[in-house]
Amino acid sequence: MISLLDPTVIEAYRVLETGEPLAYDNACRLAELSGEAVLDLLSLANKVRNRYAPLPEGDRIHRCSILNAKSGVCGENCSFCAQSLHNRADVEQYQLLDEQSVFDAAERVYREGVRHFGIVTSGYGYRRPTAEFRRILELIRALRKRYDGLNVCASIGVLGEETARMLAEAEIAHYNINIQVSPFRYGELIADSHTVEERIETVRLLRKHGVPVCCGGILGVGETMQERVDLIYALQELDVAVIPLNVLVPVTGTPQEGAIPVPVSDVLKTFAICRLAHPCKVIKFAAGRETVMKDFQGLLMLAGANGFLTGGYLTTRGREISDDMKLAAELGGFGGTI
Ligand code: SF4
Repeated sequence: MISLLDPTVIEAYRVLETGEPLAYDNACRLAELSGEAVLDLLSLANKVRNRYAPLPEGDRIHRCSILNAKSGVCGENCSFCAQSLHNRADVEQYQLLDEQSVFDAAERVYREGVRHFGIVTSGYGYRRPTAEFRRILELIRALRKRYDGLNVCASIGVLGEETARMLAEAEIAHYNINIQVSPFRYGELIADSHTVEERIETVRLLRKHGVPVCCGGILGVGETMQERVDLIYALQELDVAVIPLNVLVPVTGTPQEGAIPVPVSDVLKTFAICRLAHPCKVIKFAAGRETVMKDFQGLLMLAGANGFLTGGYLTTRGREISDDMKLAAELGGFGGTI
């Protein structure tokens, strides 16, 4: 019988049969696919998602919303970030929001049916429990008490042993901290005011204390396709629960303002390879869905993703939650949980 599939894709069908994660060497070969073979890869990733990454009953797709609870004035020098003091981006600056403002934001997403809500703060993080850190813990506890069934998450930077333990005690649903790119390129492509090891250590501390970690990266900051594969396998080593992948939205006034957009086919391949390397995980499409992927964002949700960040990002607008829900419903025709 004549096979119409690319041999590299056929090899990867083993993931569908066994549920075993894709081998690294196979991923490297898939990263070189082009043309029609990319669509074959996406179709396989969609099948793997449908078979191995079902969401709890009633959840069509993992949806989360975030609140930028403290904005700007960050001393770190992340190349993509509008909030860094090292950059010249025009960004709103404010200190940690009060409880009522946080409730107001949570209320909006809760009413729309979103059940994961993340408090995000700008800055390096909290190696030790400062007064501000304790206020964040209070906000987390207050949200959990007020909104039945709301999974409260946090993304507040690098942690130490004590702060990781305290967050575990506050029973956060997920902690987000991204390693952004292949760890080998972090210092060059992202920041040199801190190290990727500090972020990796934070992931390890949280896992030690039983906190499920949401950790992913950003595409389009100057990395190669091979380095995207390296990011995916670094995340496999860390055994994170949720993988958010962002596509760079270049911000004027940052070193990435003139970045060349990642080709759509590379974004699609990256998501598909990520699904094959992490058959059972939540893989979430975060920033860049609307601005970079434009007409292709629906296709991306069929490339293995089973979650998205909805209702806006840290410093850029996103889509309305209701529009995202319509998109998810339309995509349901392709089977599985979406
Ligand atoms: S990504 Fe976080 S740590 Fe880096 S500059 Fe922005 S706010 Fe600061």
